[in-house]
Amino acid sequence: MSIKSEGRGLYIGRFQPPHLGHIYTLKNILKEVNEVIIGIGSAQISHTFDNPFTAGERILMLKAALEDEGIDMSKVYLIPIPDIEMNYVWVRYVTLLVPPFSVVYTNNPLVKRLFIEAGFKVKTPPLFNREVYSGKIIRQRMINGEPWEHLVPKAVVKIIYEINGVERLREITKSDEVRC
Ligand code: NAD
Repeated sequence: MSIKSEGRGLYIGRFQPPHLGHIYTLKNILKEVNEVIIGIGSAQISHTFDNPFTAGERILMLKAALEDEGIDMSKVYLIPIPDIEMNYVWVRYVTLLVPPFSVVYTNNPLVKRLFIEAGFKVKTPPLFNREVYSGKIIRQRMINGEPWEHLVPKAVVKIIYEINGVERLREITKSDEVRC
């Protein structure tokens, strides 16, 4: 049996949508910690280009994708975290919402900076083909009608089809200007 180096880790993201880079990172995190807290950031936002899916939809997507990977979900906490206007107190606010953790995993520069300033141990996991596995690229592909399904877990594809997610994204990014 391997010895875990940490107890509980925190991984925060918007997961718009969860893609194979996120899943790769989560599997690696679970090799290091006994439990992982997945913070669903910008939980109050949906129906925008940057954040098309609701926090509830993102929870369903992550849960289904991790279950398909055979991950023991009793070791995973999925917790929505709405944004606040004050970066300075954001870390303190996050600690109000999630169970205690000993290490934060992130590649987001602001998230990293805020947790380091607050005195937390921060690890930056290697990025997995970031030029392809990127929420922004996947959303743009959906809008353009380009293939995107191979970039996300199969369970996520299924949920996005069920909620007409591609149609939603296309509709909300249309302009209402009259063209002549
Ligand atoms: P994201 O879903 O884009 O990324 C989540 C994590 O996955 C990041 O660490 C990112 O670097 C990593 N990642 C992305 N592509 C990857 C790949 N191919 N391989 C491996 N890892 C990859 O989410 P995000 O935008 O980083 O989420 C940060 C959240 O924190 C946002 O919701 C933001 O609003 C929130 N936040 C809020 C405040 C505040 O409310 N004041 C302050 C700071 C951050």
